[in-house]
Amino acid sequence: MKVILAKKMGFCFGVEHAIETAETLLKENRNVYCLGHLIHNNQVVERLSGNGLKVVDELSQVRSAEKQTLTPEQVNVLIRSHGCRPELLEEVRQCGYNLVDATCVLVRRVQNLVSELYEQGYQVIVVGDPDHPEVRGVVGYAPQVTVVAGVADLDKAPARGKVAVVSQTTHSAEDFGQVVGQLAMRSYEEMKIVNTICKETARRQASAVELCSIVDVMFVLGSRHSANTGELAELCRRHGVKTYHLQGWNEFKPEYVEGKQTAGVTAGASTPDWLIKEFTAKLEEL
Ligand code: SF4
Repeated sequence: MKVILAKKMGFCFGVEHAIETAETLLKENRNVYCLGHLIHNNQVVERLSGNGLKVVDELSQVRSAEKQTLTPEQVNVLIRSHGCRPELLEEVRQCGYNLVDATCVLVRRVQNLVSELYEQGYQVIVVGDPDHPEVRGVVGYAPQVTVVAGVADLDKAPARGKVAVVSQTTHSAEDFGQVVGQLAMRSYEEMKIVNTICKETARRQASAVELCSIVDVMFVLGSRHSANTGELAELCRRHGVKTYHLQGWNEFKPEYVEGKQTAGVTAGASTPDWLIKEFTAKLEEL
């Protein structure tokens, strides 16, 4: 089978930084707790857990686990690349734990923008998935923020006044454009738009679209919890090519390539290289 790889895919610098930060702490034999999965990829999280990373959902779990044996300064609490609400950072500090913040700089930019725009009197709209950890963190940076998942969700947006629109970093540029276009038809006193879609995400999307016109089938590799991987798969489908979002070769079925000559492969920003290489090699053998 002929396989063509997307020019841009796989780990982004934000994910690489988060993994390197965790690995450095673990090499020093430090006690490291991560609030939630460090990145949206089970294989990577399992590998880091095997090296000692403790994944917890709540800060209270760190307290009860460490109370007996360690002083707070010996406990490292790692904040993942998606970031978190500011209150959580404050709580970690107040507990006396060592805060290791691996929030991606581009997510940090959205957090700061939300806070600044609110201070400047804008009603802030975030275009994104309200259940995504990045968005759940970002909304904590102003007392009042509206999250709009897409054009079907626009009745939630303010009807008048001054609005400012930003995006979840991994949201699809097409969707963001549609939401902004619909909002522009309303008679706001002022509308400020800041395109906060991460360029790494945008480049991966553009490379995937490039492939759609020259392959018979697309494989998008990455966790089903990964927003940017899901967006890549949706984008490929919208561009008319049969697309499979798979977490690895174990989910592949021969029927996916029956009668197909050329397959395209792309992967989300949290998909490790080894997984892409393994999948591609096996596909080429067919
Ligand atoms: S996808 Fe972009 S915003 Fe998200 S972690 Fe990677 S570089 Fe940062």
